[in-house]
Amino acid sequence: MCSPYVSVIIAAAGNSSRMGKNVSKQLLDISNNKVIEFSLKAFSNSEYVKEIVISTKKEEVEIISQLKKTYPKLTSIVEGGKVRQESVKKALNVLNKNSEFVAIHDAARPLITTEDIDKIIKLALSCGAVCPVSKVVDTVKIAKDGTITDTINRDTVFLASTPQVFKTDIYKQCVSSLKDTDTFTDDCSLVEKFGHKVKTYVMERDNTKITTPKDFKKVKNALENSTPSIRIGHGYDVHRLATDRDLILGGVKIPHSVGLLGHSDADVLTHAIMDSLLGAASLGDIGKHFPDSDEKYKGISSMKLLFHVKKLLDEHGYKVSNLDATIIAQEPKLSPFIKEMTKNIINVLGVEENQVNVKATTEEKLGFTGEKLGISAHCVSMIYKE
Ligand code: ZN
Repeated sequence: MCSPYVSVIIAAAGNSSRMGKNVSKQLLDISNNKVIEFSLKAFSNSEYVKEIVISTKKEEVEIISQLKKTYPKLTSIVEGGKVRQESVKKALNVLNKNSEFVAIHDAARPLITTEDIDKIIKLALSCGAVCPVSKVVDTVKIAKDGTITDTINRDTVFLASTPQVFKTDIYKQCVSSLKDTDTFTDDCSLVEKFGHKVKTYVMERDNTKITTPKDFKKVKNALENSTPSIRIGHGYDVHRLATDRDLILGGVKIPHSVGLLGHSDADVLTHAIMDSLLGAASLGDIGKHFPDSDEKYKGISSMKLLFHVKKLLDEHGYKVSNLDATIIAQEPKLSPFIKEMTKNIINVLGVEENQVNVKATTEEKLGFTGEKLGISAHCVSMIYKE
């Protein structure tokens, strides 16, 4: 994918006066993470994001610099200005010269997710400027001197949120055209002032900005109780044994008098693994993705198909937690080949050795595997989204 260069500015220089604490809200602790780290993590996990710049208070530059080790996309930390606008301007000056889009985010909004970030950026790529918004639930009134003067149709009213995403050159142009007396409470109003159209993206999830201790409590509860999205899948496959066929299991060619019959290389172990992964992700099964009526899969190495499944999981934001597979074969003895099969699988899936377990067993000469008519395989896998 040839994706554009997207930079991120996290504004963390605001004061935390309404929090009633000495420490800045972006450095408060939730589950052993600083508040700002939740945003850092969400942006780091976006494939669009190439660099992250944080503007923060002078006294916090050093402590925030330490986060560079954990988040390699965090390239610069700049000392913020007196007002937000000035802090963002300073960060703009250090962006990579290749920057094509810039996402500006409040450090005090740790509930932002990679999924929303990606959707907002994707929309900005097509229209140039996007402001995430949330719907207003209550009826909106306009009042003056304690008396209502008007009621606004709430369908036309939205609350602005972050990250707001703009074409970097447009945003820079707007900033450089600013007068010292111009002040804006959000970045989008600045772009609007210069006549640029800004599209809205309606946030489905809560993206509360921590302003008061009550907000902090609410956000902390939400983050502590959020469980990662874990999913489980099962795969089962059988192939008949036949003469004049190679026996291939887990991408390893095993010397044997007979081999498995099938349209592809009939690697029954890899097929069970793929089905369990596709099942866990609700993506159907291998028959749907690689139909045996398709000539291009004739004799294909199932490891290539496994690589395709891995790419599908990537596209849907899933990572493999672990998988456990069992091959059921009366013959041959498979233990000498297990290590090599495991190695092939971990290489394709890009995981560690302890995330893949392959076992082999017999069915004590019972049934079709016991009678050496075929070989079957089971696999259970667990995948997750961060
Ligand atoms: Zn199969």
